[in-house]
Amino acid sequence: MEYAIGVDIGGTKIHFAVVDREGRIVDSHRVPSEAQLGADHVMSLVLQGVDTMIQRMPSGSKASGIGVGSAGQINFVTGTVEYAGSQLPGWTGTPITRILKERYLLPAYADNDVNAIAVAEQMYGAGRGLDSFIVVALGTGIGGAIVEAGRVVRGAKGCAGELGHVSVDFNGPICENCGNNGCVELYASGSGIARLGREVLAGAGGIVPWQPDSRAITQAWLQGERYASQVMDIAIRALAAAIAGYIHMCNPQAVILGGGVAEAGAPFLNALDQEIKSRTSTAVRSAYRLLPAYVGNDAGVIGAAAQVWLYGNG
Ligand SMILES: [Zn+2]
Repeated sequence: MEYAIGVDIGGTKIHFAVVDREGRIVDSHRVPSEAQLGADHVMSLVLQGVDTMIQRMPSGSKASGIGVGSAGQINFVTGTVEYAGSQLPGWTGTPITRILKERYLLPAYADNDVNAIAVAEQMYGAGRGLDSFIVVALGTGIGGAIVEAGRVVRGAKGCAGELGHVSVDFNGPICENCGNNGCVELYASGSGIARLGREVLAGAGGIVPWQPDSRAITQAWLQGERYASQVMDIAIRALAAAIAGYIHMCNPQAVILGGGVAEAGAPFLNALDQEIKSRTSTAVRSAYRLLPAYVGNDAGVIGAAAQVWLYGNG
């Protein structure tokens, strides 16, 4: 059997896995990123984790390569971090694939974490058989990826597909990450929904008795609580406006939605789809389907590893 090693690097944890060609995880482990200790420390954790995966490979087999998905903007061609913000301080400039190739003498690939999820969905999930789709990852922030003609669109420096920084209100609050006003991330990400929750509750009573997170708000929304309906109405309209923009630009066959907020399930998906449909013209509207991500929480590490099969010669 052939195996690839996948590494999914986020601001809070690093996920390692040995993955076979069918996208099945045969072994995995997670460690805290300890990002505040700096880039050299994070990279040393990556190397320790890959060492562990190599030691634990099924007997008689050898790794075919190593694939990395990382938070931040990753230059796929050079395998270097173009930009990483406060999630991974100091990570900008890290030559991820050069370090891995020198140490392990194996093929190595590195891409943005949402691009890696797109690879997992394309090879094993909701994007199977599709040439043209977008992925929207609703986490603490909002990530995006575009697949066109069967390939991830990366742009000049690997930064294409940053859906979270599409503005849905040019007079809206300033986005600290990019400087624009009214980025969709400010309304429909986990942190955006929590912010709206505080605002709506403060507006209702003057005093905020409690500060629900996005999970509590989506639960309250599912139960029909009024403040949560106000919040989710804004979040859904903002997200639909941004996705409608993407749909008009890319004319995709599918919009694949994943991440924590999307776990609100069918009611969320249906409300979002209805809102997108009301904001798109006939031809592009009839072309797309809104689909839940198929691969789930392990999509990042599976897609990271699958780069070895997708881009390698093996
Ligand atoms: Zn922004």
